[in-house]
Amino acid sequence: GSSTHIRLRSTAVWVKHEGEPAKSEFVTVAYSRDGKVYRLKGRTVVMAGGSWTTKHIVRNLPKPQADAYDQFYRSPCLMANVAVRNWRFLYKLGITGCRWFEGIGNYMEVRKIATFGADAPTIGPDSPVVLTLKILFSNPGMAVAAQGHRGRAEMLSTAFREYERQIREQLMEMFANSGFDARRDIAGIVLNRWGHAYLNPQPGFFFGTDGKPASRDVLRATPFGRIAFANTDLAGIMDHRCSIIEAHRAVEQLLDQVIT
Ligand SMILES: Cc1cc2nc3c(=O)[nH]c(=O)nc-3n(C[C@H](O)[C@H](O)[C@H](O)COP(=O)(O)OP(=O)(O)OC[C@H]3O[C@@H](n4cnc5c(N)ncnc54)[C@H](O)[C@@H]3O)c2cc1C
Repeated sequence: GSSTHIRLRSTAVWVKHEGEPAKSEFVTVAYSRDGKVYRLKGRTVVMAGGSWTTKHIVRNLPKPQADAYDQFYRSPCLMANVAVRNWRFLYKLGITGCRWFEGIGNYMEVRKIATFGADAPTIGPDSPVVLTLKILFSNPGMAVAAQGHRGRAEMLSTAFREYERQIREQLMEMFANSGFDARRDIAGIVLNRWGHAYLNPQPGFFFGTDGKPASRDVLRATPFGRIAFANTDLAGIMDHRCSIIEAHRAVEQLLDQVIT
């Protein structure tokens, strides 16, 4: 078979058929790396990056697919990893994770760590661990698109220092009574800000409305020339198995419809 080339640290900026999409024999991909823009030709392309980038990158996207992509909404999520010197304060309560409904964040778990080798280390309540906090930015009552925009703006514009203060206060509020002391027990905090984390499916997303097909089914059923569409978006279920299934389907469409 032919050799495979993978371009790391590269961002696709546009993807375009050479000439008429239906008759085109190649797709040109422009990508940037280290401040320079490069072009390459591919026989086919699977757009697996997600709705919010794909709709801007694919040039001359026909109206049905463009309209379909306008029906995808993503919500932000901040994952805060809080390294603690021990988790005895949770052990005392008999829990390794919990949910809450007021203050910052919604959900927390002791982060699972893979252990390898014959001498698997034991992890006890006095071991240092990482707590993963999930912080969502929903604004019930606002339109779905506006919730995404507002949540992203809030998540990205809030300083680390402010999140640190709020997380410390939240953990004190919940666990000071079982022995937690933020000043003593927190060793460090890492924030991961995901601008487009979760798909936010509106009514009609899964099965369509008014007898019309769902947008995801339009994209699944209709590759654009030599370009097919993947990403877990199209399943509407944020799960790595769905992203594999969507990618598999997109590759098969190109093999069946374009290359044969
Ligand atoms: C907080 C959170 C927790 C989750 N936990 C789980 C879990 O426990 N288990 C689970 O199964 N799933 C989980 N998911 C869902 C998980 O994110 C998806 O299952 C999976 O990552 C989707 O894979 P994907 O390949 O479709 O998309 P992605 O993982 O988003 O991959 C798309 C890739 O395309 C790249 N890309 C985008 N645009 C461009 C461009 N222009 N040029 C080049 N590259 C580009 C991106 O950098 C990215 O690497 C979680 C999601 C979130 C937000």
